[in-house]
Amino acid sequence: MHLIELYKSVQGESSFAGVPCIFVRLAGCNLRCAWCDSEYTFTGGKPFTLDEIEQQIKALAPCTLVEFTGGEPMLQAKELLPLMDRLLAQDYTLMIETSGERPLAEVPKAVHKIVDVKCPGAGSAANTFRLENLEALTKNDEMKFVISNREDYDFARDFIGTHALHEKAGQILLSPAFTKTPSPQRTADNMALDPRKLVEWMLADGLPARLSLQIHKFIWEPMKKGV
Ligand code: SF4
Repeated sequence: MHLIELYKSVQGESSFAGVPCIFVRLAGCNLRCAWCDSEYTFTGGKPFTLDEIEQQIKALAPCTLVEFTGGEPMLQAKELLPLMDRLLAQDYTLMIETSGERPLAEVPKAVHKIVDVKCPGAGSAANTFRLENLEALTKNDEMKFVISNREDYDFARDFIGTHALHEKAGQILLSPAFTKTPSPQRTADNMALDPRKLVEWMLADGLPARLSLQIHKFIWEPMKKGV
């Protein structure tokens, strides 16, 4: 598998936010989201065997929560899925952050899928979610929408309603986008959408969703890598 980095920090998003977590960041992505904060994953990376990755994860004990992220980790599904099976057999709790553009049916059900459905504000990546992946969802899973503006919010609200998402997934996350060039300040002023607006819209509609802030961008400088 080609990795960009492997490190321990606290989880920044989802219902696991704040929990110590090992991040395995895989190289490569087939999308180009307008607000992407991980463009350094698009090229490069170093090859590691599954044994080597497993050893690196074990060296970060006693942490037993592991997230596979990227880039798009499902581009390396052929090696990733066997690695997931290995780690689940050793009682690790696993998460995967994915766009849902690749098939997810083969991901073990015990893995918490965090699926980032791309809204119009994602630019060329918008509407790339593979609808058949809705059938692969369990209550372990969380559906995320990164919201840049009112158009994105309306898209997310309609998608949630049309597909009765709250009945399929355990959580629905609405996350305000950050600007492409945030200042080093650890403040909400770096967001492309004021989270107060998003909260107002959610409350007005009674949306069955959770506001999700990327807490690592408030703990550390927003552009900092490896945290
Ligand atoms: S899917 Fe993720 S890594 Fe790929 S372009 Fe979008 S935000 Fe960036």
